[in-house]
Amino acid sequence: MAESIIARCEAKGLRLTEQRRIIARVLQESEDHPDVEELYTRACAVDPKISLATVYRTVRLFEEAGILDRLEFGDGRARYEDAERDHHDHLIDLSTGAVIEFCDPEIEALQEKIAERLGFRLKGHRMELFGVPLGARKKG
Ligand SMILES: [Zn+2]
Repeated sequence: MAESIIARCEAKGLRLTEQRRIIARVLQESEDHPDVEELYTRACAVDPKISLATVYRTVRLFEEAGILDRLEFGDGRARYEDAERDHHDHLIDLSTGAVIEFCDPEIEALQEKIAERLGFRLKGHRMELFGVPLGARKKG
C-alpha cells in the first residue's frame, strides 16, 4: 500500500493548510481521473469556501512534488491521479469519454524490449489508447 497523499506531502515538507488537506483527501479518495473543475466540485462539497484558484494552485504544487500525475486524454483538459497508484495504462472511449484502466504484461515486456534494443533501460512509460466500442455506429 502506498502512503497517503497527506503523508507524502508532509514527508516532502509541503505546508498543508486546512484547504490543501481537504484537496489532498479528495484526491486520495478519487478512483477516477478528475480534472481541476471536478476536484473543485468535490472539494466544495466538503468546504464551500475553497476557491477554484486554490484547487489549481494545490494541484500544481502536488504535481511539481511528484505526488500527482497529470494526464491528457485528448480533450485538452488536464486530469490528475495519484502518482503512486499501481502502474496501468488507459483506454479512452471516444463516444462517452469514459476511461478504462488496464495493464497488459505483454505490452509491458514489449516496451522493455524496445527500450533495450535502442540501448536503454526503461524507467517508465505512458500509454493512452483511444477508441470507440466495437459495433458502435456513427450518429446522424
Ligand atoms: Zn489511471
